[in-house]
Amino acid sequence: EAKKKGRNGFRFYRQEMLQQITDLAILEKALHGAIHDNEFYLVYQPQVNNYGVLIGYEALLRWFNPELGFVSPARFIPVAEEIGLIYEIGDWVLENACRQLRIWQDMGLPPSFEGVAVNISPYQFAQEGFVNSVEKVMESTQIDPSLLDLEITEGMLVENIASVAEKMWRLKEHGIRFSIDDFGTGYSSLRYLQHFPINQLKIDQTFVRDLSSDPNSHVITNTIVSMAEHMNLSVLAEGVESTFEKAILENIGCTRYQGYYFSKPVKADLATLFLKDNEVFPFERQDA
Ligand code: C2E
Ligand code: MG
Ligand code: MG
Ligand code: MG
Repeated sequence: EAKKKGRNGFRFYRQEMLQQITDLAILEKALHGAIHDNEFYLVYQPQVNNYGVLIGYEALLRWFNPELGFVSPARFIPVAEEIGLIYEIGDWVLENACRQLRIWQDMGLPPSFEGVAVNISPYQFAQEGFVNSVEKVMESTQIDPSLLDLEITEGMLVENIASVAEKMWRLKEHGIRFSIDDFGTGYSSLRYLQHFPINQLKIDQTFVRDLSSDPNSHVITNTIVSMAEHMNLSVLAEGVESTFEKAILENIGCTRYQGYYFSKPVKADLATLFLKDNEVFPFERQDA
């Protein structure tokens, strides 16, 4: 009986594994054609200050494939990294975010607006020619580099410190800014932070989510905010979903926010309207 069950269990497991391998193969195949077939686009999520005034946008990648529908970047970015497509995709994101930034720059930006943040994969950053490729995009789009904020992750700051720092300083010389994404979830490389030209820490949304229920999250958030203050870094809270969370964060001393409470990521045309109208967030669509 047990043997039988075990064998069935095994068969089921094997089937599920085969299914997963097939799914992955389909995903990989689709991903290979995604740039050529124009299946990617960027959305922009507002970043705001204590008063709900727009201070920046984070560019986030979206993929719609006719067969697969929408696929989340949380699903396809790791696959792209695995199969080496992240370089091409990363270049596409950087170039398109900068082209959009140039359009907004030409339109004239509100004084509070600090620019556009772009997520950089560790693989992309580690590439030999990364600095050159950013410089090329700066050249071709003629953006003001101080309007560009590159989001990297903590994990990148623990390996190859010298070469990572060198690349960051070269970009910093152009005026480009750096944020540490998902801060608090990676390696605790606090002692290394000072080696790098970092402008901002982004408090990971898992801490924000648990702020009211988990005393640890409150302590960690508090610590990140005061540490940032001491190190002269900006700090931005991610994933803020309610007026309540915003109030707790403001009380802790946070001054910069991003999250569904203020606005979901929006397409470029609506992001353009926000800039033109000097929109204040939370944004509520007015009918009529
Ligand atoms: P991330 O960089 O930490 O981006 C924040 C994610 O949280 C986004 O998910 C955003 O839509 C979501 N988010 C924003 N506000 C809220 C909120 O209030 N509640 C909740 N539950 N979620 C919120 P998204 O767009 O699905 O992206 C997921 C991750 O995929 C990103 O996390 C980033 O690591 C990666 N990613 C997205 N676009 C790119 C890209 O262009 N390049 C690279 N390398 N990675 C990207
Ligand atoms: Mg990010
Ligand atoms: Mg994040
Ligand atoms: Mg994240």
